[in-house]
Amino acid sequence: MAELISFEPATGARLWQGETGDPRAEVAAARAGWEQWAALPLNVRAETLRRFANAVRARHEPFADLIARETGKPLWEARAEVDTVIAKVDSAIIAHAERAPRRRMEGALGSRTAIRHKPHGVLAVLGPYNSPAHLPNAHIIPALLAGNAVVFKPSEKTPATGAFMVDLLHESGVPKGALRLLIGGPEEGAALAGDPDIDGLLFTGSVANGRALSRRFADTPHLLVALEMGGNNPLVVWKTPDIQAAATLIVQSAFRSSGQRCTAARRLIVEDGAHERLIDAVGALMDRLIVGAPHDQPQPFMGPMIDNEAAVGVQDAFLDLIMKGGIAIRHLAKPDPATPFLTPGLIDVTGLARRADEEIFGPVLQLVRVPDFDHAVAEANATRFGLSASLIGGNPALYDRFWANVRAGMINWNRPTNGAPLNAPLGGVGVSGNHRPGGWYAADFCAYPVTSVEAEQARAVIGQGLRDA
Ligand code: NAD
Repeated sequence: MAELISFEPATGARLWQGETGDPRAEVAAARAGWEQWAALPLNVRAETLRRFANAVRARHEPFADLIARETGKPLWEARAEVDTVIAKVDSAIIAHAERAPRRRMEGALGSRTAIRHKPHGVLAVLGPYNSPAHLPNAHIIPALLAGNAVVFKPSEKTPATGAFMVDLLHESGVPKGALRLLIGGPEEGAALAGDPDIDGLLFTGSVANGRALSRRFADTPHLLVALEMGGNNPLVVWKTPDIQAAATLIVQSAFRSSGQRCTAARRLIVEDGAHERLIDAVGALMDRLIVGAPHDQPQPFMGPMIDNEAAVGVQDAFLDLIMKGGIAIRHLAKPDPATPFLTPGLIDVTGLARRADEEIFGPVLQLVRVPDFDHAVAEANATRFGLSASLIGGNPALYDRFWANVRAGMINWNRPTNGAPLNAPLGGVGVSGNHRPGGWYAADFCAYPVTSVEAEQARAVIGQGLRDA
């Protein structure tokens, strides 16, 4: 066991400390508690989770305050995250009813065919730091609802938020045997994922770690693995009549959460020669963005990065683009060496011969100028990721072309690349995921369907191939 400490990114103050847990012991506890939870009627589990939603409502402000402190995100954004945690409960209940309903059909000889769903057993949930309540919750709620037990390991950067949420779930009546909190970092995560007694893994995080985890399951193809990973998301602006609205959508897409969103726009693709007014408007809006601490008044648009290491990594990535020939339109700056605040950066990378197809997980937007729409689509697809993509401008026919030819799990029109609706699936293609979209479709992978052909009485005839008795 070791000590794990989380710090407030905005101030460097120590926020929380605790001991790392024992993955083996947590899985064993969940295994022991699982059957009792699974045996409860679905509506009892649903009611328990609704009590959790009410408990979160009652603790809305302290919860938002904690998320803001631990991630550095502005209070307004942390409040929105808490709202999503609450809304997720009803949404998961409805999604489960729609995606995993019981069905009965009449069969031959008075039999019937029934389709019902069973939980997998013990599911491991590994959470990221950027939405440390909402994203793990989006796995935990559907998994518990379906009757699984869960061992949840929050990010080592946001253990306090994870612990707060698990406490509320327990207070609301989720048994301690059905939900276990595992404090720890990659080491504990790896041990949890490799535990022989789990029935599946629900992971949200970076592609490098997702791939490493995927390799761990090479010998156990029967185990469920749902991977929600990053993106290098394109945003194409084409013949838009409203430059200001486009600039606003671009800034929201790229710089919300300081670019620490899987769905953030990373590449802005525009028509060469017709782009100057748009880029001026984006630059002017970027100059007005307030970067500040979560509780500052007036509220900032962007908080700090999660920690100094992440901020320096993003700064290095920006400098690397400059070294390779990128032309900074707005420099990414790190005003204070001691804290992880960054100002947003915009850089023209059109002339670069080779650009790394990496997710720069911070407030960096790369501009690519192209001669025509075919090139815009080709550039949008020039990535091994495929999470989100947006088109701003154009007309329905152009959007149809964009939708048909761009490869991503979320394709939007005149809307930001981020901000996924709760009542829709969320996932990506390419290395952004493994075809297990979450969100509304989490119900699909939290339980497996069982087909049963049933009759009240045994009745059977062999119609052919019998000798006379
Ligand atoms: P991360 O991959 O560093 O960590 C995610 C979780 O995995 C943490 O709990 C971490 O402790 C654990 N982990 C790390 N290495 C591990 C290993 N080798 N074995 C087992 N567990 C390990 O991700 P992060 O930095 O916390 O989050 C940011 C990343 O998450 C970005 O790439 C972002 O795009 C992605 N993300 C994806 C989605 C989505 O829905 N697709 C949503 C949010 C974030």
